[in-house]
Formats: sequence, C-alpha cells, structure tokens
Amino acid sequence: MLPSRFALHRPRAVEEALELLEKYGEAAAPFAGGTELLVAMKARVLRYDHIVDLKAIQPLRGVQRLPDAGVMIGALSTHRELSSDPILREALPTYGLLSRDVANARVRASGTIGGNLCFAEPHADPPAYLCIADAVMHLVGPAGRREIALSEFLTGEFSTDRAHDEILIGIRVPPSACTSRIAYESIGHLERPAVNVACRADSGDGGTRFRFVVGAACGRPTELPSLPDHLAIMSGEEQLMHIEEYAGAACDELDDVADDLFGSADYKRHLARVLVRRTLRKVLSMEARS
Ligand SMILES: Cc1cc2nc3c(=O)[nH]c(=O)nc-3n(C[C@H](O)[C@H](O)[C@H](O)COP(=O)(O)OP(=O)(O)OC[C@H]3O[C@@H](n4cnc5c(N)ncnc54)[C@H](O)[C@@H]3O)c2cc1C
Repeated sequence: MLPSRFALHRPRAVEEALELLEKYGEAAAPFAGGTELLVAMKARVLRYDHIVDLKAIQPLRGVQRLPDAGVMIGALSTHRELSSDPILREALPTYGLLSRDVANARVRASGTIGGNLCFAEPHADPPAYLCIADAVMHLVGPAGRREIALSEFLTGEFSTDRAHDEILIGIRVPPSACTSRIAYESIGHLERPAVNVACRADSGDGGTRFRFVVGAACGRPTELPSLPDHLAIMSGEEQLMHIEEYAGAACDELDDVADDLFGSADYKRHLARVLVRRTLRKVLSMEARS
C-alpha cells in the first residue's frame, strides 16, 4: 500500500526544520532514514501531511570527541557509519559490533541511531547498550535546547518524552562509560532482537561494580537490581558459578514482559537469564580500561 499524500520539506539547517515542525504542528514529522516511518505510513498506521527530511542537516552527522573525553553521536549517523567509526571504536569498542548486527545491510545503510531511539520500538539493539552507558539525549525545540537521560527519554513501547516539534540533535555518552568494559549479547529469531542484555563493569579502588540492563523483553530497557554484596566481592570464576541465582531472581522480577511474536514472557525471561551469564563472562574476559 502507498502512504497517503504528503508534502516533503528538505531544510538545510536545524532552525529551518524547527520552523517547519512548529508551523505544521502534529501534521508534520521529522524524517531521517525512513526505515520505520515510511513502513508505518505505508501500512497507514501513521499519517502525516508534512514530512521534514533532516538528511541535509550536516551538523547532525558524525561522532565527535568532547573536551571532557565523552563522545557525541550525531542523531543522523547511520548504523553502518557507526559500525566503523574510529572515534566511537576507541570510546566504546564493543558498540561497533552491535551496529554491525542491526537489521540487514539495507536498513543499516539508511537507518539512523536518532530514528531508532525516537521511534522507541522495544525490539531494538542500541537502547539497552546506550542505557548502560548512561547516554544523554540532546534535543532542541521551540523553547531551546534540553538534555534528558536516555533511560528517562524512553517511556514505553513506541513512546518517548520527545515533543512532536522537537528534534534530536545527538546522543552524548559521558566519559565514565568510555573507560568502562561493556559487553552486549542479543538473541532473535526474527529480524529484530527478542531479548538483549548489556553488562557494564567499572573497576575502582573499592572493587568492581557490575550493572546489567535487559532490552527488548519489556516496553523499555530495564536495569536489573545491583549484584548482592556477597557476589560483588567474589572472584570472576566464583561470580560465574553463582550468577545463576542472581540472574534467575532478577529476571523473574522483570515486570511488563509480554507474550508476543518473539516468544512467551517465560521464554524471554529465560533468554535474559542466559544473556546475563554470557555478558558477565564476556566482560570478565575484557582487559581493564583507563
Ligand atoms: C526489516 C527491519 C529490521 C530491523 N531490525 C532491527 C534490528 O535488528 N535492531 C534494531 O535495533 N533495529 C532494527 N530495525 C529498526 C532500525 O534500526 C530503525 O529502522 C532505524 O534505525 C530507524 O532510523 P531511521 O533513520 O530510518 O528512522 P525514521 O524511520 O526516519 O524515523 C523513525 C522515527 O523517529 C523520528 N525521528 C527520526 N530522526 C529524528 C530526529 N533526529 N529527531 C526527532 N525525531 C526523529 C521520526 O519522526 C519517526 O517517528 C529494523 C528495521 C527494519 C525495517
């Protein structure tokens, strides 16, 4: 089916795009790669009379190192660009592997990270990883710029904190995540992940702190409770032996896991438990970073 008729606008600057979004209100939507938006419009699930194509706005592209040693990922960066970006590879060495596995070559070539996060389809790869990296969304709208943690920006299935006339400029990853060890694992039998888990280890004087975020299983990424003290202070081998009890209890507590095409809620909780163990094993095998 074809989408209903719409006017296509091609602004060359953020200010121009904001004017268009303000002028046409809820009848307009930003457009990046179109891999989600056009499919939804063709299926007549969404309808917009005005499409504001952001692709010509060059400052929204690319990855930059920030003076504080964090990184800013431009919202228009495609999954393919991110899979081989040298700055991102240095800052978040495991992110490129994730990008390489998103969807298929066609979607990776045109689908953007900004579109992925703004669409908030729960069966996606980047959200869990970027949540454990404490990523911050940088938005601009009629009232100016604002920042919000990705974990708060994603409010549920296909739902975000973005106002219809706001544009996502970029995703900032703070410096602390750029010295962490982050492992990511995903399982999916359809084109998108059924469940994924990101595990982060931060070593300091007081020992190593582990965190886990489960993605795709729930409406939005969910951080598991902290490792209990007795497990946190064990050696890596001991942790792997005892992780099952933590993973079992933590994943059983996940609420908002639904039966869907990707499997039953019980199956997804089981996958999450398996991936917690796998990501812990991976993170333990990584060299410490500084
Ligand atoms: C067959 C298929 C398989 C897929 N498999 C996977 C997978 O395995 N893993 C995965 O993570 N994802 C997967 N995806 C989703 C894919 O990652 C996203 O489609 C892509 O990243 C979306 O980006 P886009 O630029 O195409 O967004 P668009 O379709 O252009 O936009 C999506 C939404 O975001 C809004 N938007 C876009 N950019 C901005 C911006 N800068 N500011 C404000 N709002 C904005 C649009 O208005 C729209 O509502 C798959 C998609 C398809 C079609």
